[in-house]
Amino acid sequence: MHYVENPPNPWLTHSVEWLGEPPEAKLEVFEETETRGIIAHNDSPDVGFDFTVNCYRGCIHGCTYCFSRPTHEYLGYGAGTDFDRKIVVKVKAPELLRKELMKPSWRGDEIVFSFTSDPYVPLESHYKLTRQCLEICAEFRNPVGVITKSALIRRDIDVLQELTREASLGVFFTIPFTDRESARAVEPFAPLPDARFHAMADLAAAGIKVGIGIAPVIPGLSSDIPVLLKRAKEAGATHAFINMLRLPGSVAPYFEERLREKLPTKAERILNRIREARGGKMNSSMFGERMRGKGQYWEATEHLFRIHCERLGFNKKREHVSGSRSTFRRPSAQGNLFS
Ligand code: SF4
Repeated sequence: MHYVENPPNPWLTHSVEWLGEPPEAKLEVFEETETRGIIAHNDSPDVGFDFTVNCYRGCIHGCTYCFSRPTHEYLGYGAGTDFDRKIVVKVKAPELLRKELMKPSWRGDEIVFSFTSDPYVPLESHYKLTRQCLEICAEFRNPVGVITKSALIRRDIDVLQELTREASLGVFFTIPFTDRESARAVEPFAPLPDARFHAMADLAAAGIKVGIGIAPVIPGLSSDIPVLLKRAKEAGATHAFINMLRLPGSVAPYFEERLREKLPTKAERILNRIREARGGKMNSSMFGERMRGKGQYWEATEHLFRIHCERLGFNKKREHVSGSRSTFRRPSAQGNLFS
């Protein structure tokens, strides 16, 4: 059973403590009709892309380490089970995206789906908002990147092929573990690693560039980097990246509590390793440090990642996953394309 559990929201003056057992965290879906903009600009120098589109707020996959959890606190919800179960659907996303791509100020930079939610949460099978947005990007020949944990992306192979032909596209599957036990402990409702590798293989077989994101690396829990890269290679991946665990704000206490509950015999060791790799803290919010660790553990991890990437031929410079702006075109009223 998934019980309601949220760290106190720092933006609210009150918090709830349950007397006795908390209620079950039930799925609630809210349709947002007042969304003002859909392309978000990200100015973090260590993220690797500038523009993102998120059609959903919150994420049913419920990864306990998810650094997006505090975004729910701005809505007045909690960063714990509220993030997994109170999902806001931006029903106007495709309409807004078309408007924003038509603006003269839009130059055709790569758009990444998504950053603060998975673009293929189960609700996407009903709403098809990510799909509609990808179709619009294909129509405008706008370069796209996709980051997901979901096999639902297979539904959109046709539009992903069109984006590959007409613009450029790279799809990354984030797969931080090979084993079921670790995945279920910290990614309780996400498709299992095998399902992600199978989806990766199907996309690669359809001619779509795919990669693996070993993200996040959780010191003391992640140990399979060579195996993950080998499996990704076998599934047709050509690119790979790695990120250290980030636990901003309320994520740290939520992650720690869930870790102690799900992996009680390993939790203390994992938490100690995280502190070792973060200079004694649970998190660093500094640009340049946030995505990387410190000390011997992280240096050894990066070294291992680099040598196996080289050995398997990942990340060759001549093969860029994301494209330039050069393909972008606005459709005319007649449906023809012009610059
Ligand atoms: S799938 Fe991604 S966005 Fe969703 S909870 Fe996990 S890390 Fe967060």
